[in-house]
Amino acid sequence: MKLRKGDNVVITGGKDKGRKGKIEKVFLGSNTVLVPGTNMYKRHAKKRDERHPGGIIDFSRPLAVSKVSLVCPKCSQVTRIGYMIAGDEKYRICRKCEQRI
Ligand SMILES: [Zn+2]
Repeated sequence: MKLRKGDNVVITGGKDKGRKGKIEKVFLGSNTVLVPGTNMYKRHAKKRDERHPGGIIDFSRPLAVSKVSLVCPKCSQVTRIGYMIAGDEKYRICRKCEQRI
């Protein structure tokens, strides 16, 4: 998994293709990421109590990692992620501007 929480990404497949967002959560087991406001689904919920009034609730479902691409925070291009190793440290770089991200 190359992506992390807080990364800006663009959706490259599925119903929200072309939209941008920020990763809120990474699910390592299923190789999916949650980007709020994308991949929205509706759930019809029953009223449970005052805090859960029920009705139709919009929620985001996690997207497959293969359907998102990173937007580099330095050069703001859509890019792939590379790795650099400096001593004991391994860090991510943008493949386009080659800056540390
Ligand atoms: Zn870059």
